[in-house]
Amino acid sequence: MNHIFGPVNSRRLGRSLGVDLFQEKICNLNCIYCEVGATTRLTCERAEYVPTAEIIADIDAYCRHPQRVSELDFVTVTASGEPTLHSGLGKILTHLKKTVAKPVAVLTNGTTLYDAGVCEELASADVVIPSLDSALPASFRKLDRPASCLDLQQIIEGLVTFSHQYQGKLWLEILFARGINDSNKDVDALRRVADRMRIDRIQLNTVARPPLESFARPLAQQKMLAIAKQFRLDNPSRPVDLLAQGAAQEDDHDQQKDFDLESNADRQALQDEIVEMLKRRPCTAADINRTFHLGGPDKVEQLLDPLVHAGTLQKRSHGDRLYYQ
Ligand code: SF4
Repeated sequence: MNHIFGPVNSRRLGRSLGVDLFQEKICNLNCIYCEVGATTRLTCERAEYVPTAEIIADIDAYCRHPQRVSELDFVTVTASGEPTLHSGLGKILTHLKKTVAKPVAVLTNGTTLYDAGVCEELASADVVIPSLDSALPASFRKLDRPASCLDLQQIIEGLVTFSHQYQGKLWLEILFARGINDSNKDVDALRRVADRMRIDRIQLNTVARPPLESFARPLAQQKMLAIAKQFRLDNPSRPVDLLAQGAAQEDDHDQQKDFDLESNADRQALQDEIVEMLKRRPCTAADINRTFHLGGPDKVEQLLDPLVHAGTLQKRSHGDRLYYQ
């Protein structure tokens, strides 16, 4: 199993190499908007679900190509699930800091930060991006469908304490789904929690990619802008980003990857790389082109449509866009 994917061009982290700590979807939540799919193991247990040595070996294999490493802006530790449930997280972060001379970010659903051990392990990351989708128990249950071992108040207190102890950059992500956590009451409760935290940025998101459940629907742009305005009023010097709005605004780059699409071996290698990326996140042809610089979305379609016919990939529409997954 290759635990490395990308690099992907991420709006918030630039050219970012992904490190996925799992082989299956292990999480303590089963969010209705999840892009990875249904949680196969709903658990709060921290364990070495994949040997830490196996992940470190994949990192080392990537680092054998210094040219590739030099082109990265970030390494992002994530998982097909919740990465802080991997008990080797601390070791992996320490290894990354020692061997890859690039800043390291961790994406987490923020539910385990009440655990002092997890907080200690995260200390070596340069950026931690936790989520908090709701500060009200009913909306939290509807949207994130937590394992029974989780307690929302404990999660919130953990986030607040961690935000004041952690020395790196902390970006809080909040995802809104229409009719579930977008009421005034919900937004006010989230603002009260954000006010108690030390946060470098707030990143507001909505259901922008094909979700696990069809009833997970995005907020209209006007509504997202209105919510962003409220967060900005609370603290005008703290940046508030709209993540979902930015996807269509990323710049295309002219640089080309070193792939010769006429060569079968290169085509296959490229298809494999793209499939690895799509396992973690559905993408449009334009998204894929931005990451792999293939010369336009039509070239992406030429490359991937045979995989759709073969059943390896699917095309699914969400909003007015068509996603590969
Ligand atoms: S969105 Fe993240 S936290 Fe929610 S179920 Fe998917 S992997 Fe877990």
